Amino acid sequence: MKKLALLSMLAAPLAFAQDWMPTAFDHTEVSPGIYLLTGADSELPVGATSLLVGDEYVVLIDDSFAPLGPALLEKIEELAGRPADFIINTHAHGDHTGSNQFQAENGAIIVAHDNLRSRMENDPEQNTGPGALPIITFSDQMTFHINGIEAYVFHIETAHTDGDAAILFREANVIVAGDLLFRGMFPFIDYDSGGSVSGYKAGMQQLIDMSNDDTEFMPGHGPVASRADVQQDLDMLIDAEKRVKALLNKGMSEEDIVAANPLADYHDDYNWGFITTERMTRTLIRSLTTD
Ligand SMILES: [Zn+2]
Repeated sequence: MKKLALLSMLAAPLAFAQDWMPTAFDHTEVSPGIYLLTGADSELPVGATSLLVGDEYVVLIDDSFAPLGPALLEKIEELAGRPADFIINTHAHGDHTGSNQFQAENGAIIVAHDNLRSRMENDPEQNTGPGALPIITFSDQMTFHINGIEAYVFHIETAHTDGDAAILFREANVIVAGDLLFRGMFPFIDYDSGGSVSGYKAGMQQLIDMSNDDTEFMPGHGPVASRADVQQDLDMLIDAEKRVKALLNKGMSEEDIVAANPLADYHDDYNWGFITTERMTRTLIRSLTTD
């Protein structure tokens, strides 16, 4: 039951709360006025959201599953004293855009990459309602000048999906990575939504290149991370791809490679319910045989 629910967890908008979903949000203040909001009472690392609270504007980055909209609003009101003015979606998956419509009904203006809007418009699995679509979209980058700071929003090409955005809060030295960072977990790389392993690796490298030893990374899934943490996860992915490639070069079939389990010694650290060691292996095979 839990595994079945997990299979649809990241992609499908869900109308009803599932038993593995959190019912409330915890917050971590990573820098003054910048918070990571995570599920308070679920053992699963469901999509994290980030919140910028200032004197002028309240900006929410990603907004979790639809059934969690009211609990998320409650947390925003606790921290900001009012609902969000803007939402930036880092990509189209339902665990990051699910409560768009609800938060928009409470006053938020939704901003995202062009490709995210077209995916939500054209894919019923990713359309979380007519009021859920971003009304401002960008193709490459944009900057919010609010609360006396800059929030630099930029597109990362063909990585987790084809509509990914990440955000740099320059003054605070905080990067919101979205699903370019599954901290300490095998990443979901969504080929069916325009993602790719090569783009994902390049995107992680791009974020590392923008950072320094003091940068705090807000992940799409998992806890707040350092540059060294992000490097570790990228090194894992590069090494995992090399291992799979070596077996492909020997002429082994997909099933033989899965049976040989080349990622076995990453299993204890990186395997999780949605992206198992086997699924990561199959993603890498698909990447190496189609890229
Ligand atoms: Zn995602």
